Amino acid sequence: MIEALEFYRALGVDRVPVTLGPDSLRGISIAPETSVNAARQTEPETMPCCSVTVEVDPIAEAGTIRRSPEDKAKLLAELRDDIGDCRRCKLSEQRTNIVFGYGNPDAGLMFIGEAPGEDEDIQGIPFVGKAGMLLTRMIEKMELSRESVYIANVIKCRPPGNREPEEDELDTCRRFIERQIDIIGPQVIMTLGRIALQSLMRIRGIKITQARGKFLEYRGIPVMPTFHPAYLLRNPADKWKTWSDAQKALEKLNAIKT
Ligand code: SF4
Repeated sequence: MIEALEFYRALGVDRVPVTLGPDSLRGISIAPETSVNAARQTEPETMPCCSVTVEVDPIAEAGTIRRSPEDKAKLLAELRDDIGDCRRCKLSEQRTNIVFGYGNPDAGLMFIGEAPGEDEDIQGIPFVGKAGMLLTRMIEKMELSRESVYIANVIKCRPPGNREPEEDELDTCRRFIERQIDIIGPQVIMTLGRIALQSLMRIRGIKITQARGKFLEYRGIPVMPTFHPAYLLRNPADKWKTWSDAQKALEKLNAIKT
């Protein structure tokens, strides 16, 4: 709920039009920016009961409601419209295209990488360069396709010279990948590389060599961290490790589906 409110606030929305029932969010009134922060800092496990009426879009209840593939596609398109010609961080200055995401809005498996590279910046599609070809081969080896999964990055605009995204850029852009996850509701996520893992999980100082291969959880969704394909191009001897991680993700996906 808090994440959803912050997302709306980032888009300039200071009112959200839905009425909360008695078992929904209680005790929080929306409007001043500080309300969201205060709610995050003080949110008890159970909200105290009160008569405050707040309007909340049902999509804020992501993960608890079921959406049709058509609704998901529509919501993703609306999100892309909301991002618009985004100038929220300095990465907007040199980008060619915003690289939003690609694939099935109803995907069970979602791949999340770091940021667009040169090819992606030009085409506006994630993972289409050499690293993307390697990822595509792995997806196909999993007997899936780019069209059946969903692929996106935690950063939507290419950092100049492919440098690492900076903290302020990650913090500013994170709301978009979080919203994509909320809409798609994947059953399993694979993060590709350290930056994607750290940004999504909001953790610092993690080593991908230690984190990979072990499931984490993001809002109840199993997350399998693995290496970024660009790293594997430089270190092909580690490809088998990523394949092992992918098999675990696939097993988890199949177990959830059955
Ligand atoms: S990287 Fe994200 S926040 Fe920054 S300009 Fe691009 S879309 Fe906006």
